[in-house]
Amino acid sequence: MSRKLFTVAVAGATGAVGNEMIRGLESRNFPVKSLKLLASSRSVGRTLKFKGEDIAVEELTGDAFKGVDIALFSAGGGPSLEFAPKAAAAGCVVVDNSSAWRMDADVPLVVPEANPHAVAGYVKKGIIANPNCSTIQMLVALNPIYRKYGLRRIVVSTYQAVSGSGKKAIDELSGQTRAMIHDASAAVSVYPHRIAFNCLPHIDVFLENGYTKEEMKMVNETRKILEDSTIGVTATTVRVPVFYGHSEAVNVETKTPFDIQDIRAMLASAPGVRLVDEPSANVYPMAIDAQGQDDTLVGRIRRDESIENGLNLWIVADNIRKGAATNTIQIAEILAEKYL
Ligand code: NAP
Repeated sequence: MSRKLFTVAVAGATGAVGNEMIRGLESRNFPVKSLKLLASSRSVGRTLKFKGEDIAVEELTGDAFKGVDIALFSAGGGPSLEFAPKAAAAGCVVVDNSSAWRMDADVPLVVPEANPHAVAGYVKKGIIANPNCSTIQMLVALNPIYRKYGLRRIVVSTYQAVSGSGKKAIDELSGQTRAMIHDASAAVSVYPHRIAFNCLPHIDVFLENGYTKEEMKMVNETRKILEDSTIGVTATTVRVPVFYGHSEAVNVETKTPFDIQDIRAMLASAPGVRLVDEPSANVYPMAIDAQGQDDTLVGRIRRDESIENGLNLWIVADNIRKGAATNTIQIAEILAEKYL
């Protein structure tokens, strides 16, 4: 039987994530009939390559979605709020990478390794949300542990790459690094402080409760994806001078006692996870190994000896790929295979 093909649009095609989406559609051999590339009016006139062909970038407008089956959005929260409903009204299903729709009760929030069944909820609004990058990699690793032993509490500290803030932040870290090595002054524009040779305990805006919005995304999205409002989650999210790959120190307390060898065995065979855990050989997950591939790397697995059912893990993934583009395409694959 021939495979059904789809007209696909990428909104935000010229961005860090959009670019990776185009490459992912190609490398994963997504069943594309034709591809439409959308960005702001600034990019009209540019062309981008897909399967060796040059495709002209068009402006993202409400009329751009006629005849489109699936739209992958990665143009920021404002454009998603404005154009995703228009795209859905035109009959296409949106998989949105921004935070605009994630906590909407009528919009499923999906990590394919954890809650693929939730994709079915796309029918309510024609929109599916891709979770925050830090939440995705954490749940790829924690989902099997949660399913078998339950989770009472998660304490997470992140070490997030600048590519999570888009192209401008990548340029800013390289510009500042070059300037400092040459004893020149480093211009600061994307972040409130210099990011080169520094760590900023500040991602997204501060909220009234003292947490940042990024930290509260990890709390609220985890509960929504696992469909469990009883899990305690507390997060400290930190921007570090790394180009690609988010790292996370994750401490969990399970509900029931676990066997550490069983945790290792479960993670070794969990979908999307690669066990990288041979400390005696200096082998553990690192951002430089996560970059450019789709696995979530898990290591430094050890008991937290300060509490009864405590466990520590170190979890690393490519934030642009599994944290954004790849997860979005995996959602679209489920949609295409099971629902459209
Ligand atoms: P980026 O590199 O700055 O790219 C932004 C893209 O959006 C560009 O294609 C840009 O087009 C387009 N755009 C911006 N404003 C627009 C407008 N008003 N109308 C139409 N297009 C517009 O950013 P990014 O890192 O790819 O992130 C994009 C989205 O993905 C954001 O919502 C971000 O929060 C989310 N996200 C990013 C990551 C990550 O790790 N980077 C992870 C998860 C989610 P022009 O080139 O024409 O300006």
